[in-house]
Amino acid sequence: MRQPKIVCSICRSQPAGPIRLSSTAGRFIWSTTRKVDTNLCATCSEIAYVELQRINLTQGWWAPRSAILTIVYLLKNIFNIAAHRREINQISLGDDNFPRPKLNIRSDRKSIWIGLISVVFIIFLISAFIGSEQGSSSNYSRIGSCWQMTSGSQMEKVDCTSELADYKVSTIVDDINECPYEWYMEISTNEFGCLSRY
Ligand SMILES: [Zn+2]
Repeated sequence: MRQPKIVCSICRSQPAGPIRLSSTAGRFIWSTTRKVDTNLCATCSEIAYVELQRINLTQGWWAPRSAILTIVYLLKNIFNIAAHRREINQISLGDDNFPRPKLNIRSDRKSIWIGLISVVFIIFLISAFIGSEQGSSSNYSRIGSCWQMTSGSQMEKVDCTSELADYKVSTIVDDINECPYEWYMEISTNEFGCLSRY
């Protein structure tokens, strides 16, 4: 049978064919990427595939840019190794040809678990961050903030420099009788913001 002339750029064996594999590693603020874009034999491409997928799974999630890239790379690598497996479907040792061996990242349980735990942990961090942002914005809406009475008797927060500002929160109390004026707004079931005319 006709052998392709291409040799593996790592071990020089034949048959070999072009393959492109990528990985990314997040370092919180920045990220690094590694690319394999060369001719490889079946064995070397399987080893490179598992190694780069392992980096994607375990290190890819740890920066904003690489978290997105790692999803793209994980899928592209699966697609590209499948194409390479179809093209280079055997290995040659001397005059003998053997079916191509396959390495699957699925069997690397440890990396799969680290990947899953990383994703869950990062989703938790992001939701905690969003929660604290909302918490601080509701704190910000407290003492010293200015409000406008809208047509529907709803209070709408406005900038204190705005001409629309009708009231300013002077204190927060748990009983409306403690407010110096009759104006107040309900913040939660047992918190009221006393309003003064602004
Ligand atoms: Zn090789």
